[in-house]
Amino acid sequence: MLNFIKIMRSWSMLLCIALILFTADTVSLKLRAADTSAEPALIIANSKAWKPFSYLEDGQPKGLLIDFWRQYSLVSGRKVKFVLLDWQASLDAVSDNRAAVHAGLLYSDKRAELFDFGADIFNLQTSIYIKVSLLGLIEKDLNKLQQAVGVVQGGYEQEFVSNNYPKIKLVAYINNQLMFDAVRGGEITAFVADMQVANFYMAGQSAGSNNYAPYAFLYDKAIQFAVKKGNQKLLADLNLNVKKINEQDLNLIRQKWINTETIVPLWFYRSLILGLFLLVLPYIYILRKTVANRTRSLAEANQKLLAQVNTDTLTGLYSRRFLMDKLTRLTQPSKQKDFALLMLDIDYFKKINDTYGHLVGDQVLSIISKRITSCIRHQDTLARIGGEEFCLILQGVCEQKAVEICAKINKKIAENPIKHQSAVLTVTISIGCTLVKSGADLEPLSLLQHADTLLYQAKNNGRDQAVICTYLQ
Ligand code: GH3
Ligand code: MG
Ligand code: MG
Repeated sequence: MLNFIKIMRSWSMLLCIALILFTADTVSLKLRAADTSAEPALIIANSKAWKPFSYLEDGQPKGLLIDFWRQYSLVSGRKVKFVLLDWQASLDAVSDNRAAVHAGLLYSDKRAELFDFGADIFNLQTSIYIKVSLLGLIEKDLNKLQQAVGVVQGGYEQEFVSNNYPKIKLVAYINNQLMFDAVRGGEITAFVADMQVANFYMAGQSAGSNNYAPYAFLYDKAIQFAVKKGNQKLLADLNLNVKKINEQDLNLIRQKWINTETIVPLWFYRSLILGLFLLVLPYIYILRKTVANRTRSLAEANQKLLAQVNTDTLTGLYSRRFLMDKLTRLTQPSKQKDFALLMLDIDYFKKINDTYGHLVGDQVLSIISKRITSCIRHQDTLARIGGEEFCLILQGVCEQKAVEICAKINKKIAENPIKHQSAVLTVTISIGCTLVKSGADLEPLSLLQHADTLLYQAKNNGRDQAVICTYLQ
């Protein structure tokens, strides 16, 4: 059992280490460089200040869309190169073939005249944001809004607001960075932005006058990638390879840029639960085994204890307790049958002790026990109830059978002297035998008393004999 526990422990450790390694490997985004191939790099354009989707940091392209296209490069084997510009310039770059793909933008009918759109990449929720301190003071009707509202030049939001709320006064900035600088500088008190972008640019700002909140929700739309109008071959190729991007990797990219908390994929929880289950299972098994073993040991101990209480240690016969239980059962009205109750007492036993010592006396007790046992049947019950006194229940006997067994006992003991060293000990026994008839109102102690009285009659009659009498109430 100990070895089993040790094996299970080391196995559990190995499982934990494997889980940790597996997790560490997969939680980090696997954005390895694509294989170099002869094909020229795919030039991808987007904004240089559209956090968290695409932006430049220390001259390096970063953001959700950048990771998306790097993942694309990985699955397609096509190298990618990013050209990050102001928003309108990024659209122009695709139109005049300086870039083959626009990394991600919202669809509009106007844009569809210039571009063909590919698969959805990420949903944007766009709102008008307003300075918190002004929220209670301004008009609910957007068309009556007095504030000038910042937008990014060439952005979909500019087109959307102009078309839907023509009375709103818009102030265009060439990129988000400049628009948020204007917000911070107090130049404008309202602006249009995607929720993700607003959160990203406003993160780290102190509360108070710089605090902005969404005032009016405008739309929820998906960013799609796009190619120059008519470039169907490239579009088909892009759509085909984008489909190859694993949904889990895609989620990891989205969550990396949109949520700041640690990304833990679903499979991790599943593996963890499975791992814990596999760890717990052997413990439950061991626990159940241990409980079963303990229960068995306890039952065995109880059995032993009961056997001890019911047995006389010197002779191995039943004890007084066992005999009394038996007698009680036999005298119950529903269980009654004819039986004989015998009290047997070794004659002049004290003399044996006094002459040969206590140890010899004990040996004599054992020998006499065996001799009485050899005279009775398997259904009879013999107990040692005191020093040199025995009690015997003969079940289902008639008077004649009882007489016969008593005579057999007396004969067996008296006619077989016990040899001790050079001495020969002649031992006899006296018996008081009560014949009990069923159907009477029987009381165990009265029966014992009756048999004891008969025993004394046998003693008084000269010992080495039995006095037999039917119990009468
Ligand atoms: P009687 O014929 O009248 O029965 O005389 P007895 O000597 O047998 O009866 P008595 O009651 O005077 O003596 C019984 C003796 O049995 C006294 C006691 O020392 C002895 N005895 C009781 N228990 C044990 C025992 O476990 N071992 C031994 N060796 N002797 C015992
Ligand atoms: Mg006695
Ligand atoms: Mg005696």
